[in-house]
Amino acid sequence: MRRRGYECLRSLTQLNVKWRRGNVIGRIATPVELRDSDLNGVKIVSLFKRRTVMDCHLARAIAMNAPAILNLGITAIQFSSIHRYSRMPRSRRLSRHNLGLAIDIWSFRTKSGRTLVVARDFRRSRTLHKFIRLMRKTKMFRSILYPGNDRHHQDHFHLEAKMWVTRRW
Ligand SMILES: [Zn+2]
Repeated sequence: MRRRGYECLRSLTQLNVKWRRGNVIGRIATPVELRDSDLNGVKIVSLFKRRTVMDCHLARAIAMNAPAILNLGITAIQFSSIHRYSRMPRSRRLSRHNLGLAIDIWSFRTKSGRTLVVARDFRRSRTLHKFIRLMRKTKMFRSILYPGNDRHHQDHFHLEAKMWVTRRW
């Protein structure tokens, strides 16, 4: 595990995230597995009830923004996949999912008990638009895709965390 991996793990602990070292799968540089599926108050829930293993940098990017996400009334992020073997559309390049740095989000749970489904609700949901705006503003993600971007993202959000974050906390 490289130095920036250790730095990331330290800040994850400072954010009170309960993590343990995840199994090394694929090309994840700093794999962490979440206990309680919790990132600083925001639940990260696998739609397929898989273990939640991701690169520390993705966990940190979400955990650092958790207070703002909770402020939008979002309490849980429901994802279809984080790590998987995949290539970029129409390309031979490996996608960031191979590194455990990307997450495909299909739906959210809100404080009032509602489920916001990207495919169904994106057009008219202010909360979902605010979430995208918030993720952009943080500059902690290098790529943010959502319905309307391209034909591969009509039904989910795709977020890719940056490895290096200059922002201080
Ligand atoms: Zn994706």
